[in-house]
Amino acid sequence: MDTDVYRFKVGDFECMAVSDGSLTYAPPMFPPPATIIFSNAPTEVLARVLGEHDLQPEQWTEWISPYTCLLVNTADHLVLVDTGAGGLAPSTGRLILNLKAVGIEPDDIDTIILTHAHPDHIGGNTDSEGKLTFPNARYVMWKGEWDFWTSEEAALKLDEHAKIMLAFAQRNLPPIRDRLDLVDHETEILPGVRAVAAPGHTPGHMAVAISSRRQQLLCISDTVLHPVHLEQPEWYAVVDFDPKQVVATRRRLLNKATVEKALVLAFHFPFPGLGHVVQKGTGWQWRPIEPTG
Ligand SMILES: [Zn+2]
Repeated sequence: MDTDVYRFKVGDFECMAVSDGSLTYAPPMFPPPATIIFSNAPTEVLARVLGEHDLQPEQWTEWISPYTCLLVNTADHLVLVDTGAGGLAPSTGRLILNLKAVGIEPDDIDTIILTHAHPDHIGGNTDSEGKLTFPNARYVMWKGEWDFWTSEEAALKLDEHAKIMLAFAQRNLPPIRDRLDLVDHETEILPGVRAVAAPGHTPGHMAVAISSRRQQLLCISDTVLHPVHLEQPEWYAVVDFDPKQVVATRRRLLNKATVEKALVLAFHFPFPGLGHVVQKGTGWQWRPIEPTG
């Protein structure tokens, strides 16, 4: 399987999961993975659950997290969901190369939806000189997200480590200001492309529902970071801004995906990040698609 671009259809829409690369979360740069993404998990339960995924907390020393953006061709619009991490690390910023490899130039994209303003989702907004990477695009973001990252509030509420995120936002958000549409309720962005409220991971984190001919794709972005979060929806990550809200959002979106039998795209799951969600006990389970291409 191609690990950079994965093509699929949602009704009449031509879609692609496009890799921006990945980042390895490991000491000494980062704490051990389990402490980052399951920060409140009780030790014994964590060992048992990770064991079911062939992982052991002490020996699980690195988490290689893919960064997977979504491209949707609706025939009338070419829509990109998130711009990747840009120059965050040598292993990221591959989005443009991967788009070009399938014949898509940055100029071709007319709509960019930013699910939230963390570095791995907005880092590709600008190039190394600070110029807009996608010069013809209109941007869409949740209003609360824009307000948070462009206000004084962010600096006060974020700890020292998270200030790196703020620096990224301060570099990658102002250049899109004049071409930005903010949404503050669930609404259709374009025919077949809908903004879905998904707050918690960040104040205005947003999911995107794509639908065509009664087929559904729910792009849940960072509502969950690892497949174990479906089974243990109460386990949140240190980077989750409002843990209580994260858990409520997870339950609402995973339930929606189950009921609608939607295909789901999760930004940090193993490439291409696509699968279905099935109910399991009081939680859910991830069923990755079996890629054909
Ligand atoms: Zn992310």
